[in-house]
Amino acid sequence: MLNSDEDVIIVSESERGPGKSTAPGDKLTWHFVADKVNDFAWATAENFIWKATRATIPGKGAIPIHMVYAPERAGSFERAGKVSRHALEFYSSLWAPYPFPQFTMQDGPSAGMEYPIVINSNQGAADHETGHQWWPMTLGTNETRYSWMDEGFNQYMNILSRADNDKKPYNQDGLGQSYGRTSGSEDEAPMMWNADYAGGGYSFQTYGKTPLMLSMLGGIVGDEAVVNAMKKYTVAWSYKHPSPWDYIFFMNNELGQDLEWFWYYWLWTTESVEGSIQDVKSTNGKTTVTVLQAGEMPSPVVLKVEFEAEGPAIKTPSNAKMIDATTAEVTWPVSVWFNGSRTYNAVMDFGKRKIKKITFDPHGRFPDSNPADNVWPRE
Ligand SMILES: [Zn+2]
Repeated sequence: MLNSDEDVIIVSESERGPGKSTAPGDKLTWHFVADKVNDFAWATAENFIWKATRATIPGKGAIPIHMVYAPERAGSFERAGKVSRHALEFYSSLWAPYPFPQFTMQDGPSAGMEYPIVINSNQGAADHETGHQWWPMTLGTNETRYSWMDEGFNQYMNILSRADNDKKPYNQDGLGQSYGRTSGSEDEAPMMWNADYAGGGYSFQTYGKTPLMLSMLGGIVGDEAVVNAMKKYTVAWSYKHPSPWDYIFFMNNELGQDLEWFWYYWLWTTESVEGSIQDVKSTNGKTTVTVLQAGEMPSPVVLKVEFEAEGPAIKTPSNAKMIDATTAEVTWPVSVWFNGSRTYNAVMDFGKRKIKKITFDPHGRFPDSNPADNVWPRE
């Protein structure tokens, strides 16, 4: 089974039972031994089929993936080995190599639960449950108190895994902005709230919101910087019990920015950004964009500026970068809001080329319930 990515049947339907797949006699004793684990689980059934395949872990080589399942659910295990292999290999290179010597997927009434080295899962939840080998099986966080550091991080990396499996670049655009549709719901508990008391908003609080938060973080520091910092966090805190504050301080330090405002609003509140363009005035080649901040959560001011194809040369101010010959993206830091003002006059000096269109938050990273007012002129 370690020589190829094929599935190999170890115990088929006709090979089950004492004297065939196990030692003869009516009593059988199994001893399970595992290092560095924080929990255990096992499954048993007299009718399990056992098949196996492999995953190739960087720096370690091939390890077995075992699958045990009832014959009537063979169809749910057809792709299970392949999905788990991709997850083990992808997350190993994304964060840190899978630390355990083997991996098992077991069938049963529960088809979505994680333990170290073993998951109750068929192919349906295989990517996600395999992801739990990192959180909380390697970084031992408290899922009840800080579910966002466990299920939330897992949901985020599942997006990256899905894109890699589809051989596409991952796309975090739009996710952060979409939180504007949820913010303000009385059913939503803040992320720093015990998941057992999250009520009707449990699923969003525990699973849904973290990828939106990390989408906005990527909109500020770049997605690659987020992934790299998370990777270093994984290595630094493996086999330890990081608290939310450990994570926050680690990320601030790694990303080289004081992001206290960011963590405060995402983790301790249910506030959103709600930016919009109120007015645009041009005189002598200088353009003033009046941005309104109607939410409680601040954000950097990021404007996409689209120019007419013809006209005087476009100058590039130091806080701008050209995306193509007639499109620029210009950024002012979040601190422009720290004096408490609700409007900010963003002054741009691109020279006298005529501006066709301006968009606030062009990548859809900042929570906003009505992105239609982010565009000038209004569509
Ligand atoms: Zn989970």
